[in-house]
Amino acid sequence: MQILTLGHPDLHKVAAEVTDFSSDELLSDINTLKSAMKKHGGMGIAGPQLGIDRRILLIHSKPNKRYPHAPHSDLMVLINPQFQENIDQEEGWEGCLSVPGLRSLVSRSTEVSVKYQDEAGDWHEEHFEGFMARIFLHENDHLDGMTFVNKVSDNSKLISEMEYFRQYS
Ligand code: ZN
Repeated sequence: MQILTLGHPDLHKVAAEVTDFSSDELLSDINTLKSAMKKHGGMGIAGPQLGIDRRILLIHSKPNKRYPHAPHSDLMVLINPQFQENIDQEEGWEGCLSVPGLRSLVSRSTEVSVKYQDEAGDWHEEHFEGFMARIFLHENDHLDGMTFVNKVSDNSKLISEMEYFRQYS
């Protein structure tokens, strides 16, 4: 259950749509993602971070050592997500299990409307705001082979995790 880190070719591929909702492999991949997210203290995780070539992302926001001020959310599994974001953006700090030791201020839309499929292939809609919108957009970028590093507009906003906790906790 190794988390792939920046530069691994499988982390930077566009993940494939999930089309088969009847296979045990899909559930097994989801379980693998759940365990990895829990073990490593992620607010979310996406298939490509574990070398899983499927458009699956998980969100489970709750305060922990890495993100002491995170809000509480249910654990959500979003398959083949599609989204529309609003124009308003705000800056916020992001880190990533695939980018160990770094944090950056990243501009993201403040609201996003999402359509996604669940484990059975049924479609759902969800609206995320603020930090939840940020987590969704961050994880969705992974499905397109990107990390938050691709969204850093100014290198001076990229700092070490050690410095982040020294200055902002
Ligand atoms: Zn990430």
